[in-house]
Amino acid sequence: MSGGDGHGREGLRLLAVHAHPDDETITMGGLLAQCSDRGIATSVICCTDGRVATIFDPEYAADEATIRPRLKEIREAELRSACAILGVDELHFLEYGDSGMPGSDTNGLPGSFWKADVDEAVRRVVAHIRRFRPHVVVTYDGNGGYGHPDHIQAHRVTLLAVEAAYHALYPELGDGWRVSKLYYTAFPLSEARRAAEIARQAGLKPPFGDTDPEALAFVTPDERVTTVIDCRDQLLRKREALRAHRSQLSDDFALLSVPEDLLREHFFTEHFQLVVSRVTTSLPETDVFAGL
Ligand SMILES: [Zn+2]
Repeated sequence: MSGGDGHGREGLRLLAVHAHPDDETITMGGLLAQCSDRGIATSVICCTDGRVATIFDPEYAADEATIRPRLKEIREAELRSACAILGVDELHFLEYGDSGMPGSDTNGLPGSFWKADVDEAVRRVVAHIRRFRPHVVVTYDGNGGYGHPDHIQAHRVTLLAVEAAYHALYPELGDGWRVSKLYYTAFPLSEARRAAEIARQAGLKPPFGDTDPEALAFVTPDERVTTVIDCRDQLLRKREALRAHRSQLSDDFALLSVPEDLLREHFFTEHFQLVVSRVTTSLPETDVFAGL
């Protein structure tokens, strides 16, 4: 815990709602570690167990018959390790199954988050919001960042829960709590372009293959990005937390393969879109707690 009362030295709290183990670190591992450094309490909700995911670690992939049945446990353990490295105060699993992309044979399996009763899923997140009372909530945009059904569902459920948490709905879950700021994670198009150009100049493998950055599903138009966080002091912890997600991120994952000096020089920021604010802040921001 980061503070004596468990709610952080500054009394501020951040809740992140993510679809799978690893999303928290890839999209906002630096911010989570920075909150820990500042004594700001953090809670991560992971909606699914990630058991149908592609296995990227070469050793695990070669032994898929043994690993696949244990993948839920493996990914939970990976997420626990990553959260410990980032100094996350609490981690909760909503215990839904995950889904493959639309069109795949694992899309919409029974028990999956994508097929879940939305009211029940919202209820579970409202319970966490009313208990943890976050000032800031972070999730994905309406495309789930890159179109994955579990991410889209995380977006939908989180938005509904943030609103429901301070209304009269679900009275059995305790007193209402009004979240002050709601953010979406973001990866600006300009950053994708810059990464491709820096890799080209350094003679490294293109970080996004042959795809034109503009055509990448996971980029955000720059005009939507409101908030840039300088995570220089948290970079190495973020990288260590990425490595903890061994089943998902092999050594050629862009943020793991880029040499440390290039990482420090060029890739030390994380980006967010402020979509709801009930406090006064001026944009662009450099702190998700600005105005609180
Ligand atoms: Zn994901």
